[in-house]
Amino acid sequence: SAKVYYDADADMKALAGKTVAIIGYGSQGHAHAQNLRESGVNVVVGQRPGGKNYDLAKEHGFEPVSAAEAAKQAQVINILLPDEVQADVYKSDVLPGLDKGDVLMCSHGFNIHFGLIEPPKGVELLLVAPKGPGHLVRSEFVAGGGVPCLIATNDDASDATFQIGLAYASGVGGGRAGVIRTSFAEETETDLFGEQAVLCGGVSELVKAGFETLVEAGYQPEMAYFECMHELKLIVDLLYQGGLNYMRYSISNTAEYGDYSSGPRVVTPETKAEMKRILTEIQNGTFARNWVLENKAGAPGFKATRRREKTHEVELVGQKLRKMMSWIDDKVVD
Ligand code: NDP
Ligand code: MG
Ligand code: MG
Repeated sequence: SAKVYYDADADMKALAGKTVAIIGYGSQGHAHAQNLRESGVNVVVGQRPGGKNYDLAKEHGFEPVSAAEAAKQAQVINILLPDEVQADVYKSDVLPGLDKGDVLMCSHGFNIHFGLIEPPKGVELLLVAPKGPGHLVRSEFVAGGGVPCLIATNDDASDATFQIGLAYASGVGGGRAGVIRTSFAEETETDLFGEQAVLCGGVSELVKAGFETLVEAGYQPEMAYFECMHELKLIVDLLYQGGLNYMRYSISNTAEYGDYSSGPRVVTPETKAEMKRILTEIQNGTFARNWVLENKAGAPGFKATRRREKTHEVELVGQKLRKMMSWIDDKVVD
């Protein structure tokens, strides 16, 4: 089982005298930069001007500089930009600022694992990835807690780089919760698989198929929305707190019996066989190649699908129903 580290295993001295560049002041960036600063680390923020994240960094008391300038000033550089823009910014801005002995960081291994970012000789690689969104990484830290982190280095990295990683994880609050050792391959492949097969792809299609089945059978879309989308939150909250067993303990015996008898008819051996094919395409780089090429082409398929998905009936009826539930912090985005 996994090796877990805590604050007691970390020595903040590993970052003493070093400057940490946080490139990108978005979801993860704003949390890492502030938490590290409050942990006594010298932080420089690399954030392009002109947007609300630049203003936010100023508001939080940073003097943001360009990514190139941040990479030049720092010895530890974490690229916290969207994965699909990292490789370009790396080549144009970060690489020229890397010196021998610098440590190049990320919080998701996509670009490094698939070779889209290749460090120069003498620069070691480090991954510290909080297992939660940035706002939680920040709010938990402020509350005195932390979000568990993953930590990984390249295979032949020195112990000094791993120690920098433990200090970094501790500095963002992860050492209060637990820092789990992994590899770039494991972090990248499991993250992609989880979001594709279960969390995002799996759940979205499950919700739509259930909703469509009820509506096509003549039931009202409002009823279908409540049963197949809205109530998902109640179930997920139970899973989050106590796993499948606690969820099944909390639902009715009728629901539990239906869970056992019908669940395996929805997710079948065929579904699992497809999951294995999805995993293979992640492992052999097919998914990464497709996503990179899609972006190089201007993401036409991605944008078309995004547009089409927004008009699904479950989305339209959902917008209407959520307005009837004043306790929901109803979100509408373009
Ligand atoms: P965000 O999308 O929140 O980051 C946006 C940041 O990138 C902003 O500072 C933005 O600046 C900047 N940016 C976007 N496009 C460009 C560009 N073309 N050139 C320069 N800067 C640009 O990213 P996240 O924080 O979500 O993700 C960062 C990394 O962390 C990723 O590797 C992700 O996989 C990983 N991660 C994310 C988690 C999450 O929950 N979000 C969890 C764990 C890891 P501007 O405001 O000017 O657009
Ligand atoms: Mg992911
Ligand atoms: Mg019910």
